[in-house]
Amino acid sequence: MRLYLINPRNSIVSVTNVKGNRWNQYRIWKPLGLLVVAGLTPPEWEITVIDENLGIPDYMAMPRPDLVGITAFTSQAERAYEVAGVFQGRGAPVVMGGIHATMCLEEASKWVDAVVTGEAESVWVQVLEDVRQGDLKRIYTGMNQEMDKVPVARHDLLSTGYHFGSIQTTRGCPLSCNFCSVSAFNGRRYRHRSIEKVITEFKRIREEYVLIVDDNLIGTRKDHIARAKEMFRAMIKADLRKKWICQVTINIADDEELLSLAAKAGCLGVFIGFESVTVEGLIEVHKKFNIQKNRDFKASVERIRGHGIMVAGSFIMGLDVDREGIGQQIADAANRYNVDILNLLFLTPFPGTRLWGKMESKGRIAANSFPEDWKYYTLTFPVAKYNHLSWAEMLSEMSTCYRDYYSPLRILRRVIDVFRRSPNPISALILIVASISYKRNHRTNFEKFQKFNLSMDAFQSKKGKI
Ligand code: SF4
Repeated sequence: MRLYLINPRNSIVSVTNVKGNRWNQYRIWKPLGLLVVAGLTPPEWEITVIDENLGIPDYMAMPRPDLVGITAFTSQAERAYEVAGVFQGRGAPVVMGGIHATMCLEEASKWVDAVVTGEAESVWVQVLEDVRQGDLKRIYTGMNQEMDKVPVARHDLLSTGYHFGSIQTTRGCPLSCNFCSVSAFNGRRYRHRSIEKVITEFKRIREEYVLIVDDNLIGTRKDHIARAKEMFRAMIKADLRKKWICQVTINIADDEELLSLAAKAGCLGVFIGFESVTVEGLIEVHKKFNIQKNRDFKASVERIRGHGIMVAGSFIMGLDVDREGIGQQIADAANRYNVDILNLLFLTPFPGTRLWGKMESKGRIAANSFPEDWKYYTLTFPVAKYNHLSWAEMLSEMSTCYRDYYSPLRILRRVIDVFRRSPNPISALILIVASISYKRNHRTNFEKFQKFNLSMDAFQSKKGKI
């Protein structure tokens, strides 16, 4: 039995296009979800994993599979349906899972033969058995389970082409930001894998650099932090010789022991969602967590960087409180906090989030010809009606922000600073690559947006000013 597992690419976002920009190979990582599904698949299935970010194979020239499994975030949905059509045309059944299919079950059901909703571990073996029996059902409802049911991912199936391997150690997030679909998909209960399994899987990853894909690696409560420390200690003891980056909340800065263990365990950098430069903005997105204990962001960032760990700060633009000048305000904040990398995103209502519910009820979902418009849901294109900013203004604010924050002089200062702090030259290299890549991708997206925006004239007059 032959199984293809496919990660479709987004047709317009340059960050996923490795051939279009060689720096992007540092900004993609292995599609872990597919490798986990492969880990659940019995040995009688011959598995091929295809990541379209590395290039699109000639599907027609490949042997006809017995089943195709596709995963997709929202921005990949249109392409996912296109790929499904190719294989359905060849008489192969297609099953789709992942966050978009879960949140848009009705839509996905129209384009594929079967949909797996939620976490796939509880139903995948049944899907395969039903295919074998010629009795594939339309919907399989995956349940959130304890993480020890998650098998070790088949990292061996994608052995080349990546600078970053990937691993997951926890699922769920105790917080509930209104723009985020993590709690809707994985739940708010913070579940973690046994540390033993994490170490076993780390050892199977061939790449020296690893992205820990957890939405929040350290969690928020004391017991979460204690578990993170225990895991870092085990990683140090196992002498993994891996360098890794991860996503955390700002509370990592409050525990020197945690920071020290993370650094010793190989942590090169953390990605932190600052989200808004104003208290009103943080209240709007339901992330008051960031301002608990009268937090001083500059001091928090300094404590993290003091351990040789780089900080990538993420901000969102287009909140209802954001007005003209927000781009410069965000650049100023990122410079003041002294983050090493700035990631600026447009407020994007993803299906299944509370933000989607709020915007949809008010007719504010502007790019709404689905599935075609899903390709713009990349966080780098405006897609909604924003309170005070038109689409052109949103883009111009983003350009202002990046022009300031990623000016050659500022990049140079940061590189020298990182080089001084960290004995590992790779940190400086990551900073340079990230800076060039962010700037370049924004420029490319800007050009694409201008084309997109021109073609939106009729759309705008139909729907009112955006
Ligand atoms: S802290 Fe991060 S993962 Fe958790 S809900 Fe907010 S955005 Fe999502």
